[in-house]
Amino acid sequence: MQLNEDFIRSVVSQVLNEVRSQSNASPAKSAPIGSVSYAGRYGVFDSVDEAVAAARAAFEQLSERPVEHRRRIIDHIRRISISQSVELGTMEMEETKIGRLEHKIAKLQTLGEKTPGVEFLKTEAFSGDYGLAVIEHAPFGVIGAITPVTHSLPTITGNAVSMIAAGNTLVVNPHPSGRKVAAEGVRRFNKAIYEDLGIDNLICVLREPTLETAQQLFKHRKIALICVTGGPAVARAALNSGKRAIVAGPGNPPVVVDETADLDRAARCIIDGASFDNNLLCISEKEVFVVDAVFDAMMSAMEKAGAVRLNKSEIERLTGAAMHLVGEGADKHYAPTKELLGQDAWKLAAAAGKTIDKKTLLVFGETDETHPFVDVEQMMPFVPFVRCRDIDHGIALAQKYEHGFRHTSIIHSRNVRNMTKMARAMDTTLFVKNGPCMAALGLGGEGYISFSIAGPTGEGVTTPMTFTRERRCSLIEDLYVLGSPNTIGS
Ligand code: NAD
Repeated sequence: MQLNEDFIRSVVSQVLNEVRSQSNASPAKSAPIGSVSYAGRYGVFDSVDEAVAAARAAFEQLSERPVEHRRRIIDHIRRISISQSVELGTMEMEETKIGRLEHKIAKLQTLGEKTPGVEFLKTEAFSGDYGLAVIEHAPFGVIGAITPVTHSLPTITGNAVSMIAAGNTLVVNPHPSGRKVAAEGVRRFNKAIYEDLGIDNLICVLREPTLETAQQLFKHRKIALICVTGGPAVARAALNSGKRAIVAGPGNPPVVVDETADLDRAARCIIDGASFDNNLLCISEKEVFVVDAVFDAMMSAMEKAGAVRLNKSEIERLTGAAMHLVGEGADKHYAPTKELLGQDAWKLAAAAGKTIDKKTLLVFGETDETHPFVDVEQMMPFVPFVRCRDIDHGIALAQKYEHGFRHTSIIHSRNVRNMTKMARAMDTTLFVKNGPCMAALGLGGEGYISFSIAGPTGEGVTTPMTFTRERRCSLIEDLYVLGSPNTIGS
């Protein structure tokens, strides 16, 4: 047979096609020559360097794939998060020992169903006399993520969907008290993705996370961006890291109730929001300011809706068990105790010396504004109610005790002026009117969900677009198809 150039070209092209289709369809059997293979590790690593190297290799593989593959990858994360929510939610509950099992399960299901995916990516175009400019949104590369104990696997699930939709991969330093469920969830996600698409380690996690491994992630030169979800210390650490950071920090969401509110509805909403996962959500109602004219009626509405009221001495007994002083000198402040953080309402009542039905979702009571339960993000299902003179006094107190986090605030009112006044004064990322806090994340309200709400750095409820960098592609003089023959360049 004569070997002409066309024949050789066709053989080479056939071989290349076969190699390509194998690498697209089935798990990679071996790593490129000279590189270490992390395939089969399913994302669980003991060292930051290895985790970042594996996530970088996964990023390079993902970059070669069509967007349709990202959609398939996300479908696996969604499917596992929903169909294995009972098992994984139970695991999270048993490990962290805070919150409520039914809500651990619901969080995984909801994040699996509703976290925005590739459909949220968008391209912008500018056309005119000089041609066409297209602005596309590219991935950063490997993102370093820090996740809280309050929602260990749910935060990873939401972050993974949004970050991978945008074409990134991630390395997670979970809270040490939620590390096992984090590793198990990540292992299941990666295994399913690897078996279907042949890419492993899109989501990597540190098996034994510490503050040191968090610092290593912050400083790693192959980490392009960091995203932290947690309290004040990690928010500060991320902002001081020297890297671009997306910071989903703490909140202390106040509620204001005015004389025009539907009190029964307000009571149901406050109970739903403040008791969800035993008040662990950063958006949960943490303290309520009620105008004097309806204060007593509001307390009765809370009881009617099923919450149990504690009297003054019971609240003081609870406070002794639930709050303790931490820090030194000027930094000395109250913080919730480990024993009662995220515990059921009946346990808080027991600490207050009261026996109540174990099915009770929330306990509440009257305090003054200086009470630690007002000032501190308590993360437990006791909510203090403070009497105020009028709407202006209520808004002023809400502003004071939100501490300038600009996270979440809530009003129950039928007076649009009062709503507007409070919205302007609070300047919070989320502002809910006449609903429970979850309505702000598209659960019973409009919008979409994420468990990383970036207030301090301004990205808001994070989406795939949050984890992209802008790239502009300009074509000069052509493709302005609306141009007239006199358009510049014609
Ligand atoms: P946390 O601040 O104790 O821990 C959060 C994460 O940060 C953990 O992984 C922890 O190990 C790590 N961390 C803590 N200090 C660090 C430091 N100095 N350097 C590096 N890493 C550090 O918070 P938590 O108890 O796990 O979670 C509850 C807090 O998170 C609450 O304040 C809540 O409001 C906040 N939160 C915010 C959002 C949001 O979207 N804004 C969502 C969930 C939780």
